[in-house]
Amino acid sequence: MNESNLIQFWRALLADSYATWVLFRHGTCVILDPPGDDPAGRAAAFLRDNGPVVTGTNAADFDVVPAPGGRLITCYRSEILVYVSHADAPPEQDDLVVGLIGRKRRHEDAQAPRPIHVAAARARQPHCACLNAPGKHLSLQRELGMDSHYAEPSVWACRVCGRRWLRYFYENEAFSRSGRWYLGHVPVAIALGLTADGAKRALETLPWYFSGGSYYDGRISRSSGKILL
Ligand SMILES: [Zn+2]
Repeated sequence: MNESNLIQFWRALLADSYATWVLFRHGTCVILDPPGDDPAGRAAAFLRDNGPVVTGTNAADFDVVPAPGGRLITCYRSEILVYVSHADAPPEQDDLVVGLIGRKRRHEDAQAPRPIHVAAARARQPHCACLNAPGKHLSLQRELGMDSHYAEPSVWACRVCGRRWLRYFYENEAFSRSGRWYLGHVPVAIALGLTADGAKRALETLPWYFSGGSYYDGRISRSSGKILL
């Protein structure tokens, strides 16, 4: 994939996110949160420190998640993502093979970070009704499938402010009034790389999330910490 197509892809993916991001020569994108001065320099330093693949450590780990026209390869640092398009690796190719391609690109960029594009956030994300009224303005972006608890996590985006939300729905069909949902605002970099099995933990590490459903007698509240199913 050539540089301008790659830039276009990331621009579209992060269009409404208010994120500051830097794209590197081999296709690694670093999303900076919070934004600030010298994004290119800070992203390069971050990539140099966290991007190299070290076998036998979590720096070698990755997940592969679907993205428009290709796949995203994650890193143990959620701020670092690599896009591998279907043009570079056809859809029928195994996730593991594509993941290794993405990981190699991340390693190459981390060895000699050369920014090819810097997108600085225009403004701070405004306050929005979605922060006070759970589910308001949200539209579904990606179903993550079922996790090991038989819960159904999904990623949503606010149509007004672009904030990404992780929804985690659990119901035990053998018991009435067991339905419950959790909804937490997640940084865009985390939202992009989420997998079904990482969803519960991602919610549990947030400062807070909404909860509701028949299990809670329909009451909606804010809570944090471990989700007990
Ligand atoms: Zn919003």
